[in-house]
Order: sequence, then structure tokens, then C-alpha cells
Amino acid sequence: MDDNVLAVNGGDTGRSALIFLGTGCSSAVPNAMCLIQPSNPPCPVCSQSLTLPPEKNPNYRGNTSLLIDYVGSKDKHSYILIDVGKTFREQVLRWFTFHSIPRVDSIILTHEHADAVLGLDDIRAVQPYSSSNDIDPTPIYLSQSAMDSISRKFPYLLRKKLTKGQEIRRVAQLDWHIIEADCHRPFFASGLKFVPLPVMHGEDYISLGFLFGERCKIAYISDISRFPATTEYVISKNGAGQLDLLILDTLYRNGSHNTHFCLPQTLDAIRRLCPKRALLVGMTHEFDHHQDNEFLAEWSKREGIPVQLARDGLMVPVDLG
Ligand SMILES: [Zn+2]
Ligand SMILES: [Zn+2]
Repeated sequence: MDDNVLAVNGGDTGRSALIFLGTGCSSAVPNAMCLIQPSNPPCPVCSQSLTLPPEKNPNYRGNTSLLIDYVGSKDKHSYILIDVGKTFREQVLRWFTFHSIPRVDSIILTHEHADAVLGLDDIRAVQPYSSSNDIDPTPIYLSQSAMDSISRKFPYLLRKKLTKGQEIRRVAQLDWHIIEADCHRPFFASGLKFVPLPVMHGEDYISLGFLFGERCKIAYISDISRFPATTEYVISKNGAGQLDLLILDTLYRNGSHNTHFCLPQTLDAIRRLCPKRALLVGMTHEFDHHQDNEFLAEWSKREGIPVQLARDGLMVPVDLG
């Protein structure tokens, strides 16, 4: 099978697809320090980026981000983007071209950290050109706390009337929609229903995951240190229903971290939730794609739940129903 395609349950009949635009941590992989001050011996994961082109290197990871190619009624494709991180432009150049993605129809944000939002300025690069900013704005869905932070980071991306004498400058055109951090308050983006999954990302901070898909149920949780009980119930086999696919955060190979799951907590959560399949995202340079997927293949055989590290560019055909 093509390295860049993975079939999940229902995928054979589904025309929709998930495209992993990024599967890395905030500083992305390779880690710059591993290249400018190499250790002896050099970091085996990061040093590969000096010899392998990114599209052939599963250890080259942009900020975690997912594109949903949703085929709705009348075979219409809608392209829904979750998170727009620091590496967004590079991900567009590499993966929008590779997978023939022509545009972004709507945007959903998990939270307002730099690795989830600092590519927002570059959204104009995937919008039609208009020197007068006279285009349909792209709907963007986010929590009130993310909105408060973004209005300070990007005041010029909020639509305002020009003051007298002020020149028009071309900027991304966005139509902001506030969503609730509440599993019982679903919303629609480009016709697809999303259930917000509030999770702790550090004990002082709530990030959102999302549950979507009818025929094939998928949960995407990119930034988590702990599951609140209500959120865990909604996506667990013994609760509201078994997931076909769980996409879950894992930062380091060992130990624990105050704001993210590391592999031990990620695998514990997968055991408890018992999805039909899981793919991991958010990895640092501690993870070697091939080596750790071999380890995970053994774990999967033992536990009966297929788990693998995702990779940038991976496409997963799904039937979203
Ligand atoms: Zn490294
Ligand atoms: Zn974060």
C-alpha cells in the first residue's frame, strides 16, 4: 500500500478523507538545535532531514494540524482545516499540492497557542486575491478564550471599519464564530457536525478536541494532559459509543509532562477508551517513526487495538456519512 494512505473501518466506501498536515510538537521536527549544535553522535531523527527530502522523511513533522476533505451532498468537497500553526505555509506548499487541495472552506481552532494559530496571517494565501478585501470571509470556529487572545495577537484580522485616511491593506478575511467548550453544544462547519471535547492542557487551561462523523466516528485530540470525566464518557466504548478512530496527543516517548500526554499516558487512555484504531500526533524528535511504529505494532498485537504514529502527509479515507 502507498505509504501515504491508510485505510480504516469504512474507508473503502468513504469518499471523504483525513489528511494529516502536521504531526509534530510546537517546535516541530527536526529540532533546530540538533542541526546547529549537533551532539556526538548526532540526533538520529533530526539528522535525517539533512539527507532525506521532507516528503520521503516521516520524521519531518510540522505543527499538528488536520485537514478534513468532506464529501457531502451532491458530491461537493468541503475542506475543513483544524489549526493553523507556525508551519502552516510550508504544509500548504507540501501537502495541498500533493493531495490536490484547492482551498480551505472553514477553519476550527483547538486553542490559541502559537503552534495552533500563528499561521493565521497566511490564510490569505489560500483565499482568492482581492486588493480591496472584497471576498467571502472564511468561517472560523473557536472558543471565547481563544477569541480574546487572538484579538490581541491579530487585531487586524478582526473586521473593522477603516478610519479616515487609512489605506486598505490585503489581509486574511475571516468570519469569527464562538463555540462552547461543552460536549452538549455541537456546531456545524461546512455542513459537518462537530462535538467539542473539552480537555485539560495543563491544569489551568482547557483545549478543545472534536468528535465528528456519523458512519465512521472520529475523535481528534491534539493537546491534552488529562481527560475530564464527561469528555472521556462521550468517546469511550463503555460510555456513549466506541470510536472508529482516535487521533491523540503524545509528546515524549517516556515519562510525563505537565501540559501534554506522553506515550505512557497516551497508551493508558487508548486502553481505557478502546477505539477500533488510534493514530498518534504531536511528537517531538524523541520518536523515530519506523522504530516506534514497530514497538507500537507489538503493543497493538498484545492489546488488540491497532495504534501507530501518524506522519505528515498521511491520508486516511473515511466514510463520514
Ligand atoms: Zn533531534
Ligand atoms: Zn498548546
